[in-house]
Amino acid sequence: MILIYKRECVLALLCLGTAVAAAAEPVHSYRLRVVENPNRIEVEARFADAVSSVHVRSNRGPRYLSSPRDCEGRALVRHGRSLRAEDGRITCLRYSVDLGRLRAGDRRNATLSRRNTLAPPSRWLWRPRDGLPIVLSFELPDGYRASAPWERLDASGRRYRLSPSPENASAAVAFGRFTEAVRPVSGGEIRIALLEPTTGRAPETLIDWAATVAADVAASYGGLPNPSPHVLIIPVGGSRTGPPVPFGRVIRDGGESVEFFVNHYARIDRFYADWTATHEYSHLLFPYVRRDHRWISEGFAQYLQNVLLARADRYTPERAWQKLYEGFERGRRSRPELSPNAAAAGGTRSATMKVYWSGAVLALAADLELRRISGGQASLDTVIVALGDCCLPSAREWSGTELLQKLDELAGEAVFMPLYRRYANTAGFPDYVPLFAELGLSVERGRVVPGEQAAKAALRDAILAPVGPRLADRDIDRATASPDAH
Ligand SMILES: [Zn+2]
Repeated sequence: MILIYKRECVLALLCLGTAVAAAAEPVHSYRLRVVENPNRIEVEARFADAVSSVHVRSNRGPRYLSSPRDCEGRALVRHGRSLRAEDGRITCLRYSVDLGRLRAGDRRNATLSRRNTLAPPSRWLWRPRDGLPIVLSFELPDGYRASAPWERLDASGRRYRLSPSPENASAAVAFGRFTEAVRPVSGGEIRIALLEPTTGRAPETLIDWAATVAADVAASYGGLPNPSPHVLIIPVGGSRTGPPVPFGRVIRDGGESVEFFVNHYARIDRFYADWTATHEYSHLLFPYVRRDHRWISEGFAQYLQNVLLARADRYTPERAWQKLYEGFERGRRSRPELSPNAAAAGGTRSATMKVYWSGAVLALAADLELRRISGGQASLDTVIVALGDCCLPSAREWSGTELLQKLDELAGEAVFMPLYRRYANTAGFPDYVPLFAELGLSVERGRVVPGEQAAKAALRDAILAPVGPRLADRDIDRATASPDAH
């Protein structure tokens, strides 16, 4: 078991230093001047070298584009989602984007004040296909903000760098007048934009909630793999008694962005009791896993959300085990004729619980085995830390088996892949009963009952203990790591 605690960016300052030092490499430079009335972006792009064409990712992109020209004023020819010059060389590009129209075309804006616009770059950023990094600088009206998922290059939040990413969905840049905050978490920071709803007012304490939960998750690992993830809090309303976070997701598109769709009428204490944010942040501990293996990534997040909520003292240990038991049972009853791989590939709604919970059993099984074979020195936590150090954030999509093979390699033991081979293509649900027995947990009339055997109680405590001593040392190790260790 080898764990070397290194990361590309040890502190936010060093991250910025790395970015500045890298400025000599060829990059495309974009200047984005935002005009408020009527709402539009005036784009000027200067390319590292002449390109033959630029394109926009979304089919809808051309709807919001106007007056594309090169910087000599010559019109460019559009074919579908591409723009070309007559002579096949573009060194500089100017165009305008109708943000008002784009706002109406993205349903994330439906519950937002007109002062705010969520605009996915997949619909407005026309760029070469050469994969070179893009540096973007915003010019904004006073008091107006642009909050983007990209790597932040300076403290003003007006210069960013866009690098390759899995593009699993369309991230959004938030434009307008709203509250923004950068909060420290262990080993880095988190950038949060709290948008304004159409009705009522979203309490600023939602920023504390999003930052606190991120800090709780980061605390178990000495930091999140991404030193500066982006968070959008999007108020959607609801009732006082409705779920506080009806929907959350992680998007890896030009950066890592977490979107929380929140019921801003729910009381703030109910946000802290909710699992959604812990679940979404847990995804950041892993790469984006391709869709037909998503039972693996969802399973890790389902397992960790319960463990981490107990570590943060928001769940009692009893509640954490009970929630895992209830989840496992929902998974076991979901489409028993399907294997986890078949359920994830099929995308059928009724197999959702199988997709979400099969991998959670795998995560628990692996955690227990790692602890058993290492005498408590290794665990799922230590392997997650090693994964973050070697491989994250990742610019690409991973297969589930690639992830599990990497975890085995980092653990120095074949733990994850044997579990995959046993369960991935087997109809039914992974057997969690022996795992509960190992933990001294029995179930009586649907209630999980912890046994009194000291060794088993100690194992349960070790899993739910706030931070293991080995991981608590991590910050010291990281402070001496090279900022360009990759
Ligand atoms: Zn998830």
